[in-house]
Amino acid sequence: MKFEVTILGSSSATPVYNRNPTAQLLNCNEKFYLIDCGEGTQQQLIKFGLKASKINYVFISHLHGDHYFGLIGLLSSMHLNGRIKPLYIFAPKAIQEILELQFKHSDTNLRYELVYFEIDATQPAIIFQNGDVTVETIVLNHRIPCTGFKFTEKKRLRKLIVEKLENDDVPLDLYPLLKRGVDLTLPNGNVLKNIDYTTDSAHPRSYAYCSDTLMDELYFDSIKNCDTLYHEATFLHEMLERAKETHHTTALQAAEVAKIVNAKKLLIGHFSSRYKTLVELLEEAKTVFENTELAIEGTTYQI
Ligand SMILES: [Zn+2]
Ligand SMILES: [Zn+2]
Repeated sequence: MKFEVTILGSSSATPVYNRNPTAQLLNCNEKFYLIDCGEGTQQQLIKFGLKASKINYVFISHLHGDHYFGLIGLLSSMHLNGRIKPLYIFAPKAIQEILELQFKHSDTNLRYELVYFEIDATQPAIIFQNGDVTVETIVLNHRIPCTGFKFTEKKRLRKLIVEKLENDDVPLDLYPLLKRGVDLTLPNGNVLKNIDYTTDSAHPRSYAYCSDTLMDELYFDSIKNCDTLYHEATFLHEMLERAKETHHTTALQAAEVAKIVNAKKLLIGHFSSRYKTLVELLEEAKTVFENTELAIEGTTYQI
């Protein structure tokens, strides 16, 4: 199953040096989830050949503009492009008021329904699930209420050992039950042990997105053992005081988080406009957590 994330924006606060404010597009089994929507997100989708019409779910971490100023434009374009299917928005409560005010004053009546889901930023919760994925909030420590999101694949059915099933003439209509892990007793009294005919499915992968936050052990439990951790790394560690003042994290701290929570891979992003090049941020993180990559716009990362 496809499980990958494409970076659309990697800048904090303002667009700079060809970097755009935060947005990411997660593809899970060809269903598309937009994570944050900074200014310029629709341009980025066009630039990288991704279709906005395929997005059905939008997750907004918090209401600093660099995480949602692109939303009104994206929603308006969906309307102009003839969208009729509903769009689900998971965001802080005020987003509805903000968007409706803009639609009201532009006399826009959307052709499609916006379905709002209010996020409670005080405790982690499962906010969405379907046959492919479960989404849980990660309560972060920022200047205003802020949550990250953890996307975890649903565990797949067990895998059949087809050769053995065929050798033993196991009837085809029993395969679905075996996939579900059931032991079967045949009419002749023989027992088919599931473990003899199936193997466990792959471990469900997870992607944890930590947008804007102070490094804070309060959220470590929520992201423990994730496969890919995206963590903001706004500053180099020499700017630690500034990071604390603004409730952000340094590259070194992002790497420490990845190490503590036992992530397999770390992606760092949300880079301050003070950094024209990013190599120092990457090198700093790698001193603590080797398997670190920069979140580069237009790049797709397998989870
Ligand atoms: Zn931000
Ligand atoms: Zn912020």
